[in-house]
Amino acid sequence: MSTQYHPFTELEAIAYSRNIPELFTPEAELISREIGDGNLNLVFHISDPATGKSIILKQALPYAKVVGESWPLTLDRARIESEVLKIQGSLCPDLVPHVYAYEPELALTVMEDLSDHVIMRAGLIQRNRYPRFAGDIGKFLAHTLFYTSDLGMNQQDKKIQLGRFINPELCKITEDLIFDDPYRNADTNSFEAHLQDEAELLWNDNALHLEVAVLRNKFLTQAQALLHGDLHTGSIFIKADSTKVIDPEFAYYGPMGFDIGAVLANLLLSFAAQEGWSTDVESRKDYRSYLLETIQAVWTNFASEFRALWNEHGVDRISKTPGYQNLYLQQVLQDTIGFAGTKIVRRIVGLAHVADIDKIEDTVARERAQRLALQIGKSLININRQARSIDELLEIATKSVL
Ligand code: ADP
Ligand code: MG
Repeated sequence: MSTQYHPFTELEAIAYSRNIPELFTPEAELISREIGDGNLNLVFHISDPATGKSIILKQALPYAKVVGESWPLTLDRARIESEVLKIQGSLCPDLVPHVYAYEPELALTVMEDLSDHVIMRAGLIQRNRYPRFAGDIGKFLAHTLFYTSDLGMNQQDKKIQLGRFINPELCKITEDLIFDDPYRNADTNSFEAHLQDEAELLWNDNALHLEVAVLRNKFLTQAQALLHGDLHTGSIFIKADSTKVIDPEFAYYGPMGFDIGAVLANLLLSFAAQEGWSTDVESRKDYRSYLLETIQAVWTNFASEFRALWNEHGVDRISKTPGYQNLYLQQVLQDTIGFAGTKIVRRIVGLAHVADIDKIEDTVARERAQRLALQIGKSLININRQARSIDELLEIATKSVL
C-alpha cells in the first residue's frame, strides 16, 4: 500500500491495521466502520470479532468542509494532535486515549478505542450526571497547564516545545470564529431570524467589543501553556468511572483560561439549554443546580491541584514570592470567565453551534435558551476583568433564570 498521502478507504484502513504489531495478526478478519462526521477528519473503527480487540484510526483530510464550502487545511494538525496526546498522556495517562502510532505521511493517528464511553455533550442532553467529571477534568487542566508552563517545566525547553505547536491555521479559525465574526455582520455567522435583534446588539456594543479585543489579544500573544485548544463537551468522552479528553488538533501555546473557560462555557450552554430539555420546573432546577455545582467543582479542583503542583514542583524561584500565586490564579480566573463568555456567544450566533441548543425542537423553548445563553455569555465577557471569585460566574447564571 502506498504511504503517500491519500484518504484511506475502509479496505485500506483494514489492510493497514493488520500490520500493526501486537494488536492484530496478518490473517485477522477485521471489520471497519467510518464513524467520523467527515468535516475535517476520517475516523475508522477497526475491530476483530474473533478476539474483541479494536482500535481507532483518525486521518486528517486536507480540507475543511463547512456549510457546503471547502477550504484547505494543513495536514500537520495530525502531527500536532498525536504529539499533544502523547504529552497529555505522559502527564495524565488515564485521561486521554493511548496513541499506538502516528504516520506522518498519511496524517494518521492510531489510538485506543473508547467506544465504551459516550460523548459528554450527548450525555448532558440526556441529563446524565457524572460524579467523577469535575475531579478528572480539574486534574487534567491542572496537570497539562502547569507542566507545560514556565512554572512547571524548564523554560528553554518550553520555548522549543512552543515552536513545535505554533498551529497558525487552526488558531486562525478560532481568531475569526470566536474573537471577531460574532461581533460584526460576517458572512460566516449563522443564527435564526428571530435572533436578529440580539445579533445587532452584539455588532454595536462598544463596551463588549473592548473586552473581546482584550481577550483576543491574549489569545494571539500569551504563550502561557500548551492548550488543548478546543475543550468543549464534544471533545470529552465519558462514562460513570472514566473521563477521556480527545481531539487536541487545535492545540497551541496560549492562555490557560481559554481551556478552562471552554469547559465552563459548555456546561453553561447545557444550563441554558434546560429550557428545552427538562420536563418540569423542579427537574429543570435540579439539573441546573447539578451543572452549577459541577462548574464550581471544576474550578475549585483545578485551582487547588494547580496550587499544590506549584508548591511542590514549581521550577521558577521568584514566582514563589508570597502573594504571586494568588495574583496569578486571579488572572487565570478572570481569563476563564471572559473566554467562557466568548465561547458561549459564538455558539449562538457564529458558524458552529451546539446540539444542546440547536436540537431543541420547540421553537419558543429554543429561542428562550438562545437568549439566555447570550445574556450569560455577554455578562461574563463584561465582568471578566473585575471578577474576584468563581461565585460571580455562578451568580450570573443563577440570576439569569430567576
Ligand atoms: P473531529 O476533529 O473530526 O471532530 P474527533 O476526534 O472529535 O474528530 O472524532 C470524531 C468522532 O469520532 C468522535 O465524536 C467519536 O464519536 C469518534 N472517535 C474519535 N476518537 C475516538 C476514540 N478514540 N474512540 C472511539 N471513538 C472515537
Ligand atoms: Mg476536531
